[in-house]
Formats: sequence, C-alpha cells, structure tokens
Amino acid sequence: MKTLGLLGGMSWESTEAYYRLLNLAVKRDKGGLHSAKLLIHSFDFAEIERLQMQQKWPDLAYMLVDAACGLQNAGADLMMIGTNTMHKVADSIQQAIDIPLLHIGDATAQAIMAAGYNKVGLLGTRFTMEEDFYRRRIEEQYAIETMIPGSAERMEVNRIIYQELCKGNISTDSRDIMINAIQQLVSRGAQGIILGCTEIGLLVKPQDVDVTLFDTTALHAEFAVKAAIN
Ligand code: GLU
Repeated sequence: MKTLGLLGGMSWESTEAYYRLLNLAVKRDKGGLHSAKLLIHSFDFAEIERLQMQQKWPDLAYMLVDAACGLQNAGADLMMIGTNTMHKVADSIQQAIDIPLLHIGDATAQAIMAAGYNKVGLLGTRFTMEEDFYRRRIEEQYAIETMIPGSAERMEVNRIIYQELCKGNISTDSRDIMINAIQQLVSRGAQGIILGCTEIGLLVKPQDVDVTLFDTTALHAEFAVKAAIN
C-alpha cells in the first residue's frame, strides 16, 4: 500500500472527515487491522483564509508547495489537497513534486461520468464557483457542464462555508439555505449536485434532497485509497 500525503487543515473540520473516510475505506478493502498509510500537513486555516481574502495566491502556492515537498521528503507516494478551493494552486504543486497529485476534480468528474450525468450543479466557495480553475477542468477534460447558483445564493453559500462550517457550526437554517440552492439548480436542469467544498457534506446529507449528491470529500478519499492500494 502506498503512503498518502494530505495537505489538510483547510479546514480541520474536513480533514477530520478525510482521516476517518481514508481509514474506513482501507479497512473495508484490506480488512483485518489495516489502516491508511498517511502523512498530514495541517495548516492554521486562519492564515490560509487571510491570504485568500487578500487574493495572495502566489503566497498560498508557496506555502502549499513547501508543505507538499515536506510530505514527499517524509515518504508520501501520492499527494492530496484536502480542499477544493486550494486546487487553484494545484498546477504549482504538481510541478514542484515528483509524485502524482490526486486532483479532487478528477475524483468528482469520474463519479459523475459513472452515474451517466453530463450537467450538474456546483456548490462551493465563491472562488470555486466563480473562477474557472475548477469548472474548466471538469468541463474540458470530462465534458461535464457545471451550473452555479445565482449571485445572492453564492454569497450565502460562501458565507456559510467560512463563517459556520469551517468553524464547526452546523445550523438547520443554513441547511435549509443549501437545500434551497440545490433545488433551484435542479429546477434549472442539474442532474446531480457537486458538494464542491469539503465541509458541505457535514451539513447536507443525501437524505435531505431528492437529487444525487457528489460529495467531494468522500469521492476524493475513495479515489485516493484506490490509487494507494492498486
Ligand atoms: N474546504 C473548503 C473547500 O473545499 C473551503 C476552505 C478553503 O477555502 O480551502 O473549498
């Protein structure tokens, strides 16, 4: 089994979920006392968020590259970035390391293709929803169209992520807002919904809606375990 390197702490609320999902998948596939071989570099998310808000992406790229090189030197065979948003600097990271970066967008797009869909809604931070680093990969490499909520809903989704989910606050009011955003995307033709932020799955569960959810945290963890075991 290969050793996974995870750039985590963005936020730690989802890194905790990653840790559990990675170990559960290894246990399921290998049985016995097996668990994931895993190295985690966990950032202080306050420092990350401050640089995001200042749009200091080169500084963020430098920090993540430095951490990824550290994980590679410590023995990681495969690299993961445990957040959709920070895949904005994925190319810089892949260029700096010699091991494969397991892109969260690939994990997600392959699951959408397996479900037979080609038009899905996307919920995430405003960076993930509004910029093209994430959507373009899914659209160009997998021919999957992504739809995003209207601007008022995008602001609400972004607020819930940073003000609540990344602080571990789960509120029923915010769940209703997310469900409403999902329903609007479905009424516009979305065949499924990408939970394109690694904390949204902590708030919205499959039983809350009538449409298939593509939870990027769970899909990324499955994708990584498959790569680590095979
Ligand atoms: N974890 C979130 C994501 O998947 C948001 C936190 C961040 O900005 O990295 O995009």
